[in-house]
Amino acid sequence: MSTTLSDTPTLRAGAFGNATCLKCRECGATRELGPHYACYECFGPLEIGYEFGEVTREQIEAGPANIWRYKALLPVPDDIESSPNLEPGFTRLLDARNLAAELGLTRLWVKDDSTNPTNSFKDRVVACALSAAREFGSKVFACPSTGNLANAVAAAGARAGIRTVVFIPSNLETPKQVNSAIFTENLVAVDGTYDDVNKLASEIAGEDPGWAFVNVNVRPFYAEGSKTLGYEIAEQLGWRLPDQVVIPVASGSQLTKVHKAFRELVELGLVEDKPVRIFGAQAQGCNPVATAFKDGVDAIRPVKPDTIAKSLAIGNPADGIYVLDIARSTGGAVEEVDDDQIRDAIVLLARTEGIFTETAGGTTVAVLKKLTETGQLDPELETVVINTGHGLKTLDAVSGAVGPRATIAPTYDAFTAAGIA
Ligand SMILES: *Cc1c(COP(=O)(O)O)cnc(C)c1O
Ligand SMILES: [Zn+2]
Repeated sequence: MSTTLSDTPTLRAGAFGNATCLKCRECGATRELGPHYACYECFGPLEIGYEFGEVTREQIEAGPANIWRYKALLPVPDDIESSPNLEPGFTRLLDARNLAAELGLTRLWVKDDSTNPTNSFKDRVVACALSAAREFGSKVFACPSTGNLANAVAAAGARAGIRTVVFIPSNLETPKQVNSAIFTENLVAVDGTYDDVNKLASEIAGEDPGWAFVNVNVRPFYAEGSKTLGYEIAEQLGWRLPDQVVIPVASGSQLTKVHKAFRELVELGLVEDKPVRIFGAQAQGCNPVATAFKDGVDAIRPVKPDTIAKSLAIGNPADGIYVLDIARSTGGAVEEVDDDQIRDAIVLLARTEGIFTETAGGTTVAVLKKLTETGQLDPELETVVINTGHGLKTLDAVSGAVGPRATIAPTYDAFTAAGIA
């Protein structure tokens, strides 16, 4: 299988901003920027290397209220704002006092990414992948997805005027299917798990260099988009790092990039260095990283997912081993919760903070609760929990748990009889 879109794409000068190379995360070998995702030497995964020069807080603060305020830290051209895109990011960081009190935490913030253009954090990564696909001259913008990624790719492609084809497991929630099909005529439902869909995508990518699969052959560029979550948390805290962060884990890419973002901000002198404990959240029905963490082993054993947290249902997570590394080296952990705990946490977040999260956010809040109860997380330290998606996409998960308290006749007598006043 080929690992390139085309061997020699002609790239504009400055097509990737301050990015200078692709670098192997395993052996450190570097190669030129291009549509590559595997190391020539060892087949390890590639990530973007940079030479940043000087980047200041003032420069960032003068930028737009979206992820492009951090364009100097991303593999995108300086004129990125002029190409049509969904302008995601700069979402709210909410001081979650009610939830903090409920859980017995001193200081808790919710980074609420449910308000992105297609209501999940995936708009961030897709915006970066779209920029790369444009520079590579790709003809098709595509992805294998657990749902939210397909929504984001389909919408971003529509706005950019690029043909999209998105692949999902056929058992996906109806709202997530509709949220893709509304933007693209090419939603492909595959009878299989996400891991099967992913394998099919890799095969297609290997056959046709014109297809940019955002999370396969454009993955190094895509993954950098998650760094903006880390940048925003620090900027919104007043250019400070938090003490603890709880992040959902599907492939594990987001968690590793939030960590990378914090390290970059320290290296650039934009925030003061301090220890940040990083925690990962998984569902018991898809827990390969949590299991490896608990067992104290380095290898991740793939699982067949069975959980209501379908957006996190990746049984063979590409970045799982790096998540383990980060959780261990920062004094964090990777924990798991069951489907009932996920449902309860969705209701808890809604009733304490007025935020309706999807099952991934339910998983993350439930893990935050479990980590607190088991003493793995320090309740006195400042904590951020990331809400990555919107509850309207996973209504079925809670429609049995909440509903009308009473159905009454339209009379005052019926109302008083119902015992609500
Ligand atoms: C994709 C997704 C994640 C996890 O992303 P990874 O980077 O693959 O770990 C978390 N939450 C939601 C809602 C998602 O759609
Ligand atoms: Zn290598």
